[in-house]
Amino acid sequence: MTTPANFFNLTLPELQQFFIDLGEKPYRATQIMKWVYHRGVIDITQMTDLSKVLRDKLVNLLQFRLPEIESEKISHDGTRKWLIRVDEKNCIEMVFIPETDRGTLCVSSQVGCALDCSFCSTGKQGFSRNLHQFEIIGQVWLANTRLGYYNGPQGNRIITNVVMMGMGEPLLNFDNVVRAMDLMKDDLGFNLSTKRVTLSTSGVVPTIDKLAATTRVALAVSLHAPNDPLRDVLVPINRSYPISELLEACRRYSQTNNDDPITFEYVMLAGINDSEKEARQLATLLKDFPAKVNLIPFNPFPDSGYTCSRKQDIDRFRDILMQSGLITITRKTRGDDIDAACGQLVGQVVARAQRYHKTAQVELRT
Ligand code: SAH
Ligand code: SF4
Repeated sequence: MTTPANFFNLTLPELQQFFIDLGEKPYRATQIMKWVYHRGVIDITQMTDLSKVLRDKLVNLLQFRLPEIESEKISHDGTRKWLIRVDEKNCIEMVFIPETDRGTLCVSSQVGCALDCSFCSTGKQGFSRNLHQFEIIGQVWLANTRLGYYNGPQGNRIITNVVMMGMGEPLLNFDNVVRAMDLMKDDLGFNLSTKRVTLSTSGVVPTIDKLAATTRVALAVSLHAPNDPLRDVLVPINRSYPISELLEACRRYSQTNNDDPITFEYVMLAGINDSEKEARQLATLLKDFPAKVNLIPFNPFPDSGYTCSRKQDIDRFRDILMQSGLITITRKTRGDDIDAACGQLVGQVVARAQRYHKTAQVELRT
């Protein structure tokens, strides 16, 4: 007997082909997509607009496999963090941040991360594996379910934005991440607009161009330093793709996407990258660039070796950027009582060798 296909691993055209191969009409795919992504139903026997004969047949041919929620924590500010089991050895984390005008889900793309940024707890664990499509899109489905979306009034969104800012470097899991993001945007999927799905990268330059050529989403770039010597230390991938190459790729990305601004993330590390000098350097670097800057207070974790900049230093840094005309926002720290803040996502990862990153880079360079 053939193994059933996993619905959550398929794109719409693939699902249509699946039905054509069964001798069915391709619009069956539309019906099932609506049941799953719009109504939260994954039990085929409840999909009542499919004939009983077809439902009986599909029970053995199509499964709805998802990762499992291992635990859930709710912060005093309403932020929620879930630990999600993806296999026997590994868990990832996902965070939901409610605000008055939006609800943002922070989704993971890999189990661990090979890029080893010096201030990131995910990076400290090393890399284990890429997440499959079903494990990425499944996070959004699971969060919607846990947040009660499918029981609430139809069309009353709870998750309005998705950011690929959880564990992992999304551009090093390109195919699965793009397929999942396309489902987030599809009307038959989660129907989010292109501006409300954001991919954050530490700067895998060639893959930024590939992203521009493949799909349209908002881009955030983890810059964290205004010069190469400092960025080489904080974000080691900078040694392969220095700032000038990164900014050129960002400019091309913005041009391909109707001059959409790029968000530059900048973690505030006391005495490391937060002086007036660095603020001015950053202002010069991003002058005339379609940029927004997001200052992220550093979220400490044990043995990180860093501390967060003082509030007055963050404010001064922000004022210098604003005076030079850059739109600058200081990100609020949310969910700190449940370790749900940016960069604190640790999951439970059995790290394999770090070789992956080096191999990936060699492949990207050729
Ligand atoms: N790998 C991608 C996306 C995941 S990290 C990237 O690096 O962009 C999401 C964001 O959290 C990045 O901007 C990252 O630099 C930031 N981050 C990592 N560790 C952090 C910490 N301890 N405190 C604050 N931000 C952190
Ligand atoms: Fe990986 Fe992003 Fe963490 Fe760097 S900041 S180690 S790229 S998850």
